Amino acid sequence: MKSNTRSLLIMVCATMLFLSCKDEEVINPAAPSGKEDVSASLEVAYPEQRGIVKKGFYLGNEVTYEEINGDYILEGDMILNKKFLTENLDDLILDSNETAHSFGVRSVGLTGGRWPNNTVYYSIASNLPNQYRVTDAIAHWETNTNLKFVQRTNQQNYVYFRPVNQGCSADLGMKGGMQYVNLEINCSTGTVIHEIGHTVGLFHEQSRSDRDSYLRINWDYIQEGMAFNFYTYQEQHLSGADYTSALDYNSIMLYGSYAFSKYGQGYPTITKLDGSTYQSNREYLSQGDIAGLNVMYPGDNGGGDQYVNGNYYTLYGLRVYRHDDKWWYWVQAENKWKEVEYVNGAWRYVDQGDNGGGNQYQNGTNYTIHGVTVFRDQDRWWYLTNINGANTYISIDDVNGKWVWNVNGNIYKHNTYYNVDGWQVLRYNGKWWRLYYGSWNEVDYVNGKWEYV
Ligand SMILES: [Zn+2]
Repeated sequence: MKSNTRSLLIMVCATMLFLSCKDEEVINPAAPSGKEDVSASLEVAYPEQRGIVKKGFYLGNEVTYEEINGDYILEGDMILNKKFLTENLDDLILDSNETAHSFGVRSVGLTGGRWPNNTVYYSIASNLPNQYRVTDAIAHWETNTNLKFVQRTNQQNYVYFRPVNQGCSADLGMKGGMQYVNLEINCSTGTVIHEIGHTVGLFHEQSRSDRDSYLRINWDYIQEGMAFNFYTYQEQHLSGADYTSALDYNSIMLYGSYAFSKYGQGYPTITKLDGSTYQSNREYLSQGDIAGLNVMYPGDNGGGDQYVNGNYYTLYGLRVYRHDDKWWYWVQAENKWKEVEYVNGAWRYVDQGDNGGGNQYQNGTNYTIHGVTVFRDQDRWWYLTNINGANTYISIDDVNGKWVWNVNGNIYKHNTYYNVDGWQVLRYNGKWWRLYYGSWNEVDYVNGKWEYV
């Protein structure tokens, strides 16, 4: 009797689902479906709170994020590591003789965001309620992907599943050291599967670069100040890739139709192109999810990052080019590629080894070269000039017989004015600008004086 009732119920539900799906697609595309849970499918770190929307650079990429309770939140439930957030883009590369620790914010250390050897180490807080949510989610991941989840013993990099009062959230990618999956009591097993997706490096599905071919974003229905949650990863200047050829409406990483809706039912923030809403999946990894993960974490246990010559990558905050199995960085001021390497938590120029012969310059000595008096110190060239009223040594380079200000050896803040050598200049987007008769002109400091570029 009982089982009869149950199968009847299942039949009725299945029929209703089928019918209402048809209704949505055929009759009135924009109409509310009447059966979707408006709120439950949205993972957010702090559901009841709105923070301060800020802009900054995360690992060298410009991002808009929200500051709530001292956490930096991206797209509602991804926590950014403060260590990798900076106000400006400059100064990510050290000269070969500089040490990383002396520059604090300049050193960024994410190890590429992938878990090496397809292995995620984890531990679960002993006071986390309903721990089956985590163990079931992990079992689902292990069954469907090449990833292994291993209880941590003394590994340095691991995920800690812990209880929080509100919200479901996770760090994005492997960040090094301990990182979190934060779970309030209402986060389901499916939500834990979603959050683990962030842990292993997945963005939200609607962040795909080609999502406009599949989804319509109703910007007017999005809660005030929350629009940035709907940008593609490219619009957010995050380094990423679309690992499958098409958006998967069934992805566990896809926001529901009503995510961050200002007005709730009837006002979906995301629909299909025909205006219809969709049922978001928060139960299992979709076929598309699994296909993408197989690209990110191939089954050969390689894991980690595979770099292909001829491709650009954003690594540890720097846009670098892979060539000849080495890393290269385009130095705008010198108009050339320079080899760089990542050592001890920072990028640095590879010493070009030009010390073999030629002039040997003594540190602590003034020289006149190319008609300019320059000072040798720390095996580098310095030029004495006046910045904001103070005599200041700036690091300069000899580029094709011209002395060019080596900005990488100095720290200048983005969107900040400096008075240099009698000119008021603005540091913006890694370049110098001068306002002249109402328009901004790019300028550069060459041979001890300003030039228009
Ligand atoms: Zn999420």
